[in-house]
Amino acid sequence: MIDLDRIRRDTPAAAASVFLDSAGSSLPPEPVVETAIAHLRREALVGGYRAANERMADLAAVKTSIATLIGAQASDIALSDSATRSWSDFFYSIPLAAGDRILVCEVEYASNAIAALQRAAAVGAVVEFVPSDPTGQIDLAALESMLDDRVRIVSLVHAPTNGGLINPARKVTELAHRFGALVLLDACQSIGQIRVDVSELGVDALSATGRKWLRGPRGTGFLFMRPELATSLEPPALDLHSAQWNSAKEYQLAADVTRFEFWECDVAARLALGAAVDYLLDIGIDNIAEAVSERAEYLRSSLRGIGGVTVHDLGNRKSGIVSFTVDGHAPTDVRDFLASKGVTVTVSHRRSTLVDMTHRGLDAVVRASPHYFVTLAQLDEMVEALRAM
Ligand SMILES: *Cc1c(COP(=O)(O)O)cnc(C)c1O
Repeated sequence: MIDLDRIRRDTPAAAASVFLDSAGSSLPPEPVVETAIAHLRREALVGGYRAANERMADLAAVKTSIATLIGAQASDIALSDSATRSWSDFFYSIPLAAGDRILVCEVEYASNAIAALQRAAAVGAVVEFVPSDPTGQIDLAALESMLDDRVRIVSLVHAPTNGGLINPARKVTELAHRFGALVLLDACQSIGQIRVDVSELGVDALSATGRKWLRGPRGTGFLFMRPELATSLEPPALDLHSAQWNSAKEYQLAADVTRFEFWECDVAARLALGAAVDYLLDIGIDNIAEAVSERAEYLRSSLRGIGGVTVHDLGNRKSGIVSFTVDGHAPTDVRDFLASKGVTVTVSHRRSTLVDMTHRGLDAVVRASPHYFVTLAQLDEMVEALRAM
């Protein structure tokens, strides 16, 4: 059970307004905010180097916390400044040759798709979209028929950014591995709202952001990869942390996953990310998953009761992202109207998930993503505001 009183005391803004954008950039709890501010103040007193040196053990613990959350080892985690950075660091390091195939899912996120297209054009590989099945999730039969020994990598978005569902990652890795393809899981929208265990899912690599369901600060992200990959892949860009300069002609890659990290980072944000993960672990991911699912289902059924509102979420297994449109009102107008009533939602545009939205004939949807700190009464407020529209 979630101690909602305590949680809401830790997040004053959660009571002051109806916040439904944890899929975009959530409200961090006080311990996260305090961690970041305290470190910035310390940097202002003793300088960034000394301030960081004082927190070496805490910085190492950030990876331990993330590893606990995803069922990995701390030594399998590389920290970065965004999920996209982490995703592309891994993706660009996979050796590809002319004729190789890259499979992406229909709900692929724009940044990943753009990177895949760039890389494919550079090496003469091809990007192919695995269709979604009628339930909206990745079509496993289609995936199986598309797989062959030229497929190097399957990119799977665990929970799409534009609403609804959770993809069956375990089944995708089982199929892909039969053909020797790597699976890179974009867990941006699943980390922090459902249990994501890399050994259970069997993925080769996973990328995630801090600012969404983890309630961490902006400008944080991380990459997990299997240890064998960390020691065999060479990242496309290196620095003096990811490699060592040995002589005028030589450098040596770091012996582990730190070869996927740069030295410079926002230490305050990184410590705050650790605080966010610890906060989450303290509540318990299963408690969180249950609370998020209850809220999203409640909101979906309430929205379905309003004339002129269409809920667009698909999937056998639903995520905490609720997507909908309102007849006669542009999604941006709905967002702005709700904002004027103290309700924060966002709009997910076609350009973010182009292939999926085009396939479904959608140009934009309103996205409401209630985290566990939102009350059902607040969801009623949101629905009342919509009715008034
Ligand atoms: C938000 C999002 C990203 C990008 O995360 P950044 O931290 O902005 O790089 C990638 N994939 C999905 C599915 C997302 O929702």
